[in-house]
Amino acid sequence: MTPALGVSTVKELEGALRGRILLRSSDGYDQSRQVWNGMIDKRPLAIVKVAGVADIQATVKFAQERGLPVAIRGGGHNVAGSAVCDDGLVIDLALMKSIRVDPHARRARAEGGVLWGEYDHQTQAFGLASPGGAVSTTGIAGLTLGGGFGYLSRMYGLACDNLISADVVTAAGEFVIASENLNPELFWGLRGGGGNFGVVTSFEYQLYPVQQVLSGIVAFPFEMSEAVLKRYRDVALEAPDHRVWFAGILQIPGVGKLVAVVMSNFGSEDEGWRALRPIRELGSTVLDTVATVPYCVMQRQLDANSPKGLRNYWKSAYMSQLSDEVIGLLVAAMENTPADRDQIMIESHGGAISRVAKDATAFEHRYAPFNLGIFAVSTDPMLDQADAAWARKLYQQILPNSTGGSYVNYLSEGDDVHTAYSDARFGRLAGIKARHDPGNLFRFNHNIAPA
Ligand SMILES: Cc1cc2nc3c(=O)[nH]c(=O)nc-3n(C[C@H](O)[C@H](O)[C@H](O)COP(=O)(O)OP(=O)(O)OC[C@H]3O[C@@H](n4cnc5c(N)ncnc54)[C@H](O)[C@@H]3O)c2cc1C
Repeated sequence: MTPALGVSTVKELEGALRGRILLRSSDGYDQSRQVWNGMIDKRPLAIVKVAGVADIQATVKFAQERGLPVAIRGGGHNVAGSAVCDDGLVIDLALMKSIRVDPHARRARAEGGVLWGEYDHQTQAFGLASPGGAVSTTGIAGLTLGGGFGYLSRMYGLACDNLISADVVTAAGEFVIASENLNPELFWGLRGGGGNFGVVTSFEYQLYPVQQVLSGIVAFPFEMSEAVLKRYRDVALEAPDHRVWFAGILQIPGVGKLVAVVMSNFGSEDEGWRALRPIRELGSTVLDTVATVPYCVMQRQLDANSPKGLRNYWKSAYMSQLSDEVIGLLVAAMENTPADRDQIMIESHGGAISRVAKDATAFEHRYAPFNLGIFAVSTDPMLDQADAAWARKLYQQILPNSTGGSYVNYLSEGDDVHTAYSDARFGRLAGIKARHDPGNLFRFNHNIAPA
């Protein structure tokens, strides 16, 4: 039987909060339990819309006393839906949106409910930015805790590489600061270990001067996929750190399948246009949006391709190479997709990501040149099984050309979290978990059980 929270019990917690509690009977409950992935349908006992550190401490202690498990919600984008849970409490940070920029120190502190679009808006007022996600509606919290790749990462590293400190409420309800000097082992784990170790109430990031950027999407007919992906591979492998390329085969309802390349060049404009030539020379473009744009415009250019509420099942693989054989497999799989939204996406990594020492952070995959995302996406629950089978089959086919590792932030529900870490790293993370959350209170994540 589903446990219930009595009215008097809820009142007790409510009295300790500045924020508010949504119960199953409350207005707004159903809206607040929805996450980005439309396949997720979890019914928490209560959603606690926390308004600050004190609220989080009170909620954690309340949950501990009653043996209730706790999910933590940042931006709610994780495809596994781990921001919500059945029959537990959700600590929802959506009200915690403060962002303070120190333009002189080139640092910003942002609370755990901030989304990348909100962060960029604030930091761009000072002509500054931090490496973040490539879709503006993604939360800074989950993305940073799992690693965090974006347009600036080849120049300045992952989001987690630019984390200076984090404020954390542990499973005991204690407030701790994690940085290179304070709780350094926890700080190590927060940079790639996912949301396992406590509720991060705010993140302090390094900022860099960035304003205009030559960026955009060039798309071609699907039939050109092999040629376009091969050219993408070649230009991506040769790119200087200040240039990043993405590629994908996507489907737009009503339009059909397209192969597309995305470039962002943070160097001189002339040099960026020259770098684009080998792609444009392929001819027959159906879309070309490349232009010099403000940073925030670039950060939003892929938003429309990732609307909330579609049914998503993902597989991801770090690729040691993007051989002709792999490209052939990707194109063949996209020829026969179960759903009309299925897509693949390739990010080119390297640059500053691979210059961070392998053991400096919990993030594992420093040296893979590409990260492949296989995204089974539909609107129809009847397609769920066939769609997931399609993604798994393609994943198995490309596995021999991969490093064997997956990106923790792209794992789906039920995936093995071990694929995101080596044995040694996994063991070290389990030790940090044992120290800060020995009872596994925070278990709705890609869970690392306490050692
Ligand atoms: C459309 C889309 C685009 C994406 N683009 C990118 C990209 O460009 N680069 C990239 O690296 N990744 C990208 N991702 C993956 C993204 O990094 C993950 O989905 C990430 O988990 C999202 O963070 P969130 O805060 O929105 O998610 P949530 O679902 O809220 O949280 C994710 C996990 O982190 C935990 N968590 C959340 N907040 C906290 C907190 N304050 N303290 C402790 N734990 C917390 C949650 O419990 C959960 O387990 C994308 C995802 C989507 C859906």
